[in-house]
Amino acid sequence: LFHDAALAEGAEIPGTPAQAHHLGTVLRRGAGDEVAVFNARDGEFAATIAHLRKDRCAFALGARRRAPATEPDLRLLVAAIKRDAMDWIVEKATELGVSVIQPVMTRRSIVDRVNLDRLAAIARGAAEQCERLSVPEIRATLPLHAALDGWDGAPLLVAAERRGALPIRHVAAGLRLPCGWLVGPEGGFETAELDDALRRPFVTAVALGPRILRAETAAVAGLAVLQALAGD
Ligand code: SAM
Repeated sequence: LFHDAALAEGAEIPGTPAQAHHLGTVLRRGAGDEVAVFNARDGEFAATIAHLRKDRCAFALGARRRAPATEPDLRLLVAAIKRDAMDWIVEKATELGVSVIQPVMTRRSIVDRVNLDRLAAIARGAAEQCERLSVPEIRATLPLHAALDGWDGAPLLVAAERRGALPIRHVAAGLRLPCGWLVGPEGGFETAELDDALRRPFVTAVALGPRILRAETAAVAGLAVLQALAGD
């Protein structure tokens, strides 16, 4: 279970109403059952459920089982797309170890807002399921140009199916993290928008092969390659 509080052996910490519901109603756990509680700052602790009611619970922390750890700095910038696809991307990107998920509004985005609370909850659940200690930071949605203007200069690979884009295996093989992976919306980037991105010295157009992939496929496939060749 992910927990933001300071974790230490011997501490008793309250859980959230969502954790109480999940443990009691979904998993049918009760007081005295064993769980694990973690965050990236303090690591993972063996714990027992000290009490559990419908919307309240607390955990008694035992010994630390894993030391604190952060994920390598692989960031996903993803155009706002339909809800189900966005949910899926956040779950898979979390499993693939991204540090940051930055939704961006592009000229052809067909959704006008992204539910960040929902995405943060999906990221937390996926982090718990895949046993990573940190939960990716879900950033507030920005227009693409603002995300590019505020970028810190790390290599940013933009997924582009157009001619001239370099094959990802060539780019990723010589890359070190931190780096970003930027994926367009269902209708792709507008030419002028992509050209504007490519004028920045840190941006490179990268292809995942000759087929037109769905945005969610491109997001996850690119992250898997980058994590395998440049991550850990
Ligand atoms: N504009 C495209 C079209 O209608 O022909 C479709 C865009 S595609 C469905 C959505 C996004 O996925 C693109 O903006 C791009 O970022 C990424 N993408 C899809 N296929 C790709 C490929 N073969 N290589 C790299 N990126 C790809």
